[in-house]
Amino acid sequence: MNLGDFDPEALARLLRADASRRVVLRSLGGLTALAVAGTPRAGRAAQDATPNASPAASPGATPGATPAATGPYRFMVGEIAVVAVPDGTLAFPSAALPPAPAQFLFADAPPEELAAALRDAGLGEWIDSPGTASAQVSITPLVIDTGDHRVLVDTGPGTGAPLPGGGQLVASLGAAGYPPETIDTVVLSHAHVDHILGAVDAAGAPAFPNARYVMGQTEHAFWTDGARLAEVFPDPAAREGAAGSARAILPLIEAKLGLVDDAAEAEIVPGVRAVAAPGHTPGHMAIAVESGGERLLATFDALSHPLHVEHPEGNSVFDTLPDQTDATRRALLDRAAADGTRLIVYHFPFPGLGRVVRQGDALRWEPAT
Ligand SMILES: [Zn+2]
Repeated sequence: MNLGDFDPEALARLLRADASRRVVLRSLGGLTALAVAGTPRAGRAAQDATPNASPAASPGATPGATPAATGPYRFMVGEIAVVAVPDGTLAFPSAALPPAPAQFLFADAPPEELAAALRDAGLGEWIDSPGTASAQVSITPLVIDTGDHRVLVDTGPGTGAPLPGGGQLVASLGAAGYPPETIDTVVLSHAHVDHILGAVDAAGAPAFPNARYVMGQTEHAFWTDGARLAEVFPDPAAREGAAGSARAILPLIEAKLGLVDDAAEAEIVPGVRAVAAPGHTPGHMAIAVESGGERLLATFDALSHPLHVEHPEGNSVFDTLPDQTDATRRALLDRAAADGTRLIVYHFPFPGLGRVVRQGDALRWEPAT
């Protein structure tokens, strides 16, 4: 197996060949199939601005300073430290990610409303110059340090470069003071390529040698159930593409892997729970951190862009089950707006921490920094 053996041309051929383009696009989250399985090449802001929101411990770091875009970002949830650990950014359109930004992130949005919203947000070029517009999406795994446990949630696309732009996780973990051997629990929110390929190193061995790996039982069941896969991805090529990253990685971590009941909000370690957030993938889960009366919800890919807060109807091409994604997103946003829970979002501009505020009938994203 060679995780670096990604073939953008194979992906382009798949996109051109498929009659149901949306289905293929929705399968891109597992695009490593093209490289590793099934091809000949297989192988509220004021509170967040308090001094407990500061760059992760590093020489010379100034408490309360604006974090560097490229350095780890540490903040507290009660007694639990959470560190946003930058892995890099995905740029699109690109050879690996061909859709234009608006199509990529807001595939289901009504065109006229989308155009107006993007122009309001200063992103009119996504509509007016789709051939030249580009976008960058952050990749931000989290370390949750409870004192007793050091939990890493999601692992980025790894260093094999199937998705150029990521792969800085291990260096960033070192900068944050959490080299891989210090991590005792690795949680995988879902089995898309930009979240789980970094679970193993370039040799295919678990990248976090002292960790147990944890995945939601719904997600694990989906990617290992051939009949269900065929139901969701009727096209064989799309199915191969979608299932590729799970098929590549799950056998390599099987000996260390445990499943949690996300539907029951199972505890992973004290203060950290799995929260079912299905739709983006059928078993996609969020992670809740609770301590000292504070709560943080790490939403992972229930949201892909800050405009999804105002326009939850605009699913991305990666949202496998659009209606369910939409319902999950709305429920999660409504709850966050009602109870003031902070959110941190994997693909929002780094570090992706903020709150959802209600303005009349609309919701709005208020970044913490
Ligand atoms: Zn993602």
